[in-house]
Amino acid sequence: MDTQQFREFGKAMVDYIADYLDNIRERQVLPSVNPGYLQTMIPKEVPQSGENWKEIMHDIEKIIMPGITHWHSPNFHAYCPTANSYPGIVGEMLSAGIGCVGFSWVSSPACTELEVAMMNWLGKLLGLPEEFLNCSDGPGGGIIQGSASESTLIALLTAKEKKVREIRTKNPHLTEADIKGKLVAYSSDQANSSVEKSGLLGSMPMRLLTADNTGSLSGTTLMEAVRKDKEDGFIPCYVVATLGTTGTCAFDNVEELGLVCKEEGIWLHIDAAYAGSAFVCPEYRHLMKGVEYADSFDFNPHKWMLVNSDCSAMWVKDARYLVEAFNVDRIYLKHQHEGFAPDYRHWQISLGRRFRALKLWFVLRSYGVEGIQQHIRSQIALANYFEDLVKSDSRFEVATSNMGLVCFRLKGPDVLTQTLLDRLTDRKNIYVIPCYYRGQYVIRFVVCSRFTEIKDIDYGWNEICEVSTQILENGLN
Ligand code: PLP
Repeated sequence: MDTQQFREFGKAMVDYIADYLDNIRERQVLPSVNPGYLQTMIPKEVPQSGENWKEIMHDIEKIIMPGITHWHSPNFHAYCPTANSYPGIVGEMLSAGIGCVGFSWVSSPACTELEVAMMNWLGKLLGLPEEFLNCSDGPGGGIIQGSASESTLIALLTAKEKKVREIRTKNPHLTEADIKGKLVAYSSDQANSSVEKSGLLGSMPMRLLTADNTGSLSGTTLMEAVRKDKEDGFIPCYVVATLGTTGTCAFDNVEELGLVCKEEGIWLHIDAAYAGSAFVCPEYRHLMKGVEYADSFDFNPHKWMLVNSDCSAMWVKDARYLVEAFNVDRIYLKHQHEGFAPDYRHWQISLGRRFRALKLWFVLRSYGVEGIQQHIRSQIALANYFEDLVKSDSRFEVATSNMGLVCFRLKGPDVLTQTLLDRLTDRKNIYVIPCYYRGQYVIRFVVCSRFTEIKDIDYGWNEICEVSTQILENGLN
């Protein structure tokens, strides 16, 4: 493909994306294809000679779109939001165009320096304690990781190395293996699946402690588990607190957990993957009370802050622990400006890294503080509107509601709500998924798309009501 063809293909694609998003409301949110559908539509081998971009373009509607679940449809209310915005998309384009690899400062100075600056902007925007910022006097700092899962794992591995060093300094006769075999981690049974996975990947048993009946993990529960583990000869090492659980958007009591961690010398990581974006609005910051106790904090601008995936913002209070844990150097990676700015390869799993800060910069500048606050507040207002609709109908009950997420059910046995969800999924007009809350089956309705308006909430509610009426009047068959 030559430059001229690139210009044509690229421009045609920008138009295609703009039309796709402009008209996304018209598309059925869930696809109607069967597993393997695509395999019969494309050749078994790479084409022998190159094809014209127009042929490729033609196949997008034919082959790809039938198999897309439209996450940005205003009728998508499942999981949690995944961000998408025009400045975010353009930032991705430029990152691909420059195509640099920023594993060290010298490998592309702007890549590191913009990331340092953006993580400071973002940390201030959320109201994080100064110690987390690159611009503070201390050893704190932020990095863009690929996912909240990666951040949780990286924090776990860092906590592990830190703990081993601490113990060996006091007890040099102990081997690393002696210590590592006794380390344990804690989180709540409401934590995201990635938290349990971090324990598996990092070879540290992850105790999933029972959250209270609002889905929140308390300091007392943690303290009790820590005490028991110590009695049994284990070494408490790592705690993951969640601000905004995946199921019901519950908030752990960070202040209580933090006090326990401080007392016991345990690394505290905060996973605020979804709800962290809400801290842009000062009225929600009380939910992160105790954040000053955390050793690391992560949230996903790629969920609710309009920055296209992937962009997971992670801060640590003392980046030296990361570097001590992960510094594997080679002559070909060294440079004469080391120590001036972070060499981010030491802060992450992979060596190479994309220029992700560009899209963050574009989004933060395009929307400004007010635009981002407005986005969060309007999505929460839409969720509140939905909650009021549910409450106005005596056939339903709201189980819990937080941020942009409302969990509701049909009154009566679970099977009614299960059937409602199955039928909604079969009809494919809206997409919602279930979870359990206080032992009952509930449907999660999340305001996900930035295109969602009141009329879409009304549409979703009418769909729910219509199917519910069928179930309640005609029975389950
Ligand atoms: N933590 C929480 C609370 C989440 O809700 C999610 C995803 O929904 C994750 C972690 C995983 O995020 P990621 O896909 O960035 O790893």
